[in-house]
Amino acid sequence: TAKEAGKGRSAVFDHPLNDSFIERMNIEKHLYKAMEQNEFELFYQPQVDLTLNKVTGLEALLRWNSPELGFVSPLKFIKVAEDSHLIIPLGDWVLRTACAFLKSLHEKGLTDLSMSVNISMLQILQTDFNEMVLITLQTCDLSPKYLELELTETVLVETFDHVLYKLNELRELNIKIALDDFGTGYSSLSYLTHLPITTLKIDKSFIDSIHTGTHQAALIEQIIIIGKRMNMCVVAEGVEQTLQLEYLQQQGCDKIQGYLYSKPQSAKNVEQLLLQWENTGIGTPVEFQY
Ligand code: C2E
Ligand code: MG
Ligand code: MG
Ligand code: MG
Repeated sequence: TAKEAGKGRSAVFDHPLNDSFIERMNIEKHLYKAMEQNEFELFYQPQVDLTLNKVTGLEALLRWNSPELGFVSPLKFIKVAEDSHLIIPLGDWVLRTACAFLKSLHEKGLTDLSMSVNISMLQILQTDFNEMVLITLQTCDLSPKYLELELTETVLVETFDHVLYKLNELRELNIKIALDDFGTGYSSLSYLTHLPITTLKIDKSFIDSIHTGTHQAALIEQIIIIGKRMNMCVVAEGVEQTLQLEYLQQQGCDKIQGYLYSKPQSAKNVEQLLLQWENTGIGTPVEFQY
């Protein structure tokens, strides 16, 4: 205990986890009012279909610019939002905002575009989750086929029985289900046969080491083969380099998402970019430099 540690030292403040503990407390403190104060914004990252050479979808990604904390990474605040259950109203807001934006893009002539939305485990465990999704689609006057829900392996493995019937119901409505960060979790491949997955998103960590790792390329090749055999769409995440793009194209990867084509951008900027690409084609991608 702190007392035993003695000599005016405090165990609390010497604990290595302390920094992140304080950081989390701080995030939680400011997170509660962030929604009322409109501090959240959605950014959107294009997904490029390699066969069509066209943007076919966008992934909605949360951004939080806090007046007190500055820009906070979603990797940090989503975890806190989950622990405090704030992810429920926040997740509803994300879905509504993303769907409304997609509808507005359809109305501007980008009629084939889909929207991918990240969903937390806690959201899908809500009894009225499917109903909420449906109502949102109806309110926005959007066909369910334009919506894709992104789930991570952990969600699926830890809640398998609870979510299976929900996912099946969503699939029957023609909503797409993507397995995000694929390859990083501990799920067995057999989950793929039991769950109504439509899309596999290969995690950025594999893409990063296509040309440097020993076995990553082999894994990617097999993920693409399995995905395609199972009639799934295979998306590569975090593509930054032309060499990666060329390799993925050779292997038959369906879509890519990454800084090579575009970083996530504000609604206004991504709309401008998409309308421009409608006229000029998406052109030659620009390699990302750190
Ligand atoms: P994710 O769903 O796997 O999203 C992909 C992440 O990779 C995003 O990070 C994106 O900005 C980043 N990324 C995409 N292409 C590249 C690239 O070429 N290079 C690099 N370095 N990064 C790239 P971001 O926006 O920071 O989001 C991190 C994670 O936070 C997301 O990972 C997702 O798990 C979570 N997240 C974001 N928005 C939401 C949300 O609305 N709801 C929930 N539940 N989670 C969200
Ligand atoms: Mg995602
Ligand atoms: Mg991912
Ligand atoms: Mg992720």
